[in-house]
Amino acid sequence: MSGELASTVLVTTKCSGGCQHCPFSNPDLEKLFLAPKLIKTIMTQTASRLTVLSGGEPFEHPQISEILTDLGKQTNSFRIATGGFVDLAPWVDKLKFLSRPAGPLRGISIGTDVLSSRVDHSKWIPIWKSNIRLFFESQIPYSLTFTTGSDLDFSRLDLWKWTGLFEGKPEFIYLRHAQDDLLDEWVRKLKDTFGDILIIHDEIESKKLCEWKT
Ligand code: SF4
Repeated sequence: MSGELASTVLVTTKCSGGCQHCPFSNPDLEKLFLAPKLIKTIMTQTASRLTVLSGGEPFEHPQISEILTDLGKQTNSFRIATGGFVDLAPWVDKLKFLSRPAGPLRGISIGTDVLSSRVDHSKWIPIWKSNIRLFFESQIPYSLTFTTGSDLDFSRLDLWKWTGLFEGKPEFIYLRHAQDDLLDEWVRKLKDTFGDILIIHDEIESKKLCEWKT
C-alpha cells in the first residue's frame, strides 16, 4: 500500500438523506455494506496517515456499533464523514471514547447538504442541529463540509441565522466548490458566520455529481 496522506473507505452505499444532486440518492444504486471484519483489516493494514470512513451514510450501516467498537482497538487515525441527519446520541459514548486525547478518531466531518431547502429536508434539520449540540457538549471535534453548486447556495441555507448553535465552533470548514465563481463570496459568508476559522477548499466537477440523473 502507498504511504499517501489520506484515503477514503466507503463503508456503505446506503443513504436516506435524499439530496437530489447526490449519486447515493439514486434509487437504482445497490445498497452495499462493507463487512466489519473487512473494515478492521483495512484499518489495520493501511499505510495512509488518515482514513476517512464515508458513505453513503456510515451511521446507516446496520453494524455501525460493532464497527465503532472495533475501531477502538486499533491505533490508526481516522475521521468519520456523516450527513448529520441520523441521531448520533446512541453512539456518543463510543465516539467520545474514540476521540479522547491521543485516541484514533480525529473528528467527525458533518455535511450540510441535508440543510438545503430545495427539497423538503425539514425533518432532518432538528436532528442535524441536535448532533452539533451533542458534539459540543461531549467535546467531540467536528468540521463542517459545504458542497456548493446548484443545490446549495446561500439562500437555501438557514444555518447563517443559527446564532448560538456554533458556540462550540467547528475545527475547520471544508468547502467543496464547483467552478461557480462564488468562492470568494462563500469564504466571506463563512467568515461572517464562524469568525476566524480555517477554511480548506477544493474544486469539484459538478457534472460528475449529477451523472445518474441523465
Ligand atoms: S446526506 Fe450526503 S451522502 Fe446522503 S444523499 Fe445527501 S449528499 Fe448524498
